[in-house]
Amino acid sequence: MPKLTIPEILMRVATLDSRTYSVDGETVTASLQALCQRHPQLEQHFFYDSGQLKEHFMLVVGGALAAPDTSLSEASELEILLAASGGSGPPELPHLSEHERARYARHIMLPQVGENGQRKLKAAKVLIVGTGGLGSPVSMYLAAAGVGTIGLIDFDVVDQSNLQRQIVHSVTTVGAPKVLSAKQRLQDINDQPHLVTYDAKLNEQNAHDIVPKYDVIVDGCDNYETRYLINRVAQEYGVPYVYGAIFQFDGQVSVFLPGRGPCYQCLHPEEPPPAIAPNANNKGVFGVLPGVVGLLEATEALKLILGIGNLLAGRLLIYDALSMRFRELAFQKRPACRACGTATAELCH
Ligand SMILES: [Zn+2]
Repeated sequence: MPKLTIPEILMRVATLDSRTYSVDGETVTASLQALCQRHPQLEQHFFYDSGQLKEHFMLVVGGALAAPDTSLSEASELEILLAASGGSGPPELPHLSEHERARYARHIMLPQVGENGQRKLKAAKVLIVGTGGLGSPVSMYLAAAGVGTIGLIDFDVVDQSNLQRQIVHSVTTVGAPKVLSAKQRLQDINDQPHLVTYDAKLNEQNAHDIVPKYDVIVDGCDNYETRYLINRVAQEYGVPYVYGAIFQFDGQVSVFLPGRGPCYQCLHPEEPPPAIAPNANNKGVFGVLPGVVGLLEATEALKLILGIGNLLAGRLLIYDALSMRFRELAFQKRPACRACGTATAELCH
């Protein structure tokens, strides 16, 4: 029977205990289908709903690159590699310079962070989707905290009306692309992080190039479509997704850990119809609200990177600025979730 090896990340996100399987199948696709029958949670990672094999894998048979319809023999060894993966395990943490030790001294003296934690922050790559109200505090605090690589994606330009809450921008950058305006401010806060800017809207095409390059995605966007997209792609590549949303005086925060808890679509299976959908741009927003919500997101992102504390996974934190109350809702994975559920396994065969 052909032997099949899957990427280590898939073993983890699908909570399997082995990377290698013996599976029946005359072709590469057939043997992956057989594996998905045995472990239905893998199906979403390997196949589109149409049944077509996803294309971000390298299929290797007997040491050579193969195609989905490549024939396998009893003795074949099929290895699936992630195109974006170096395949050599976690990189060694970067060292801190004397200057960095001084700069991050108040972090390093916390036992929960220490020098090792600060090195984890330096090694971390965080993508912030949107450089508006939420993206402002998130990016400024993550830069100040010493996150080594910060990706900023936004297609908008700075407008006067943004400045009431989008504190990463300034009067001198009105009219400039938001990612460039933000980059300028972040460099002022900390010249250490590598700042990667994408002057674009996150879409189905670029998401597959951008998202796998990061360890954490932080939500600073203002629409459902982008959130469903972030969620789907985050699930696909096993990237944790820190969610935040605001409307008028209310905010929400949660953390979605692929393979280890419910996702955004478990929480909101469907977008509300436009007539009742909260949309911050058209209905106004209390200027300080994104500050509070963005900092809660930044807190969760830093905890995730450091591996400390209890994350908001499976918990939705709801903030009401008018009553100054926080409350928390527990929620669970939906087996029929279109983004992370296992109930779609029959599509595999
Ligand atoms: Zn889900």
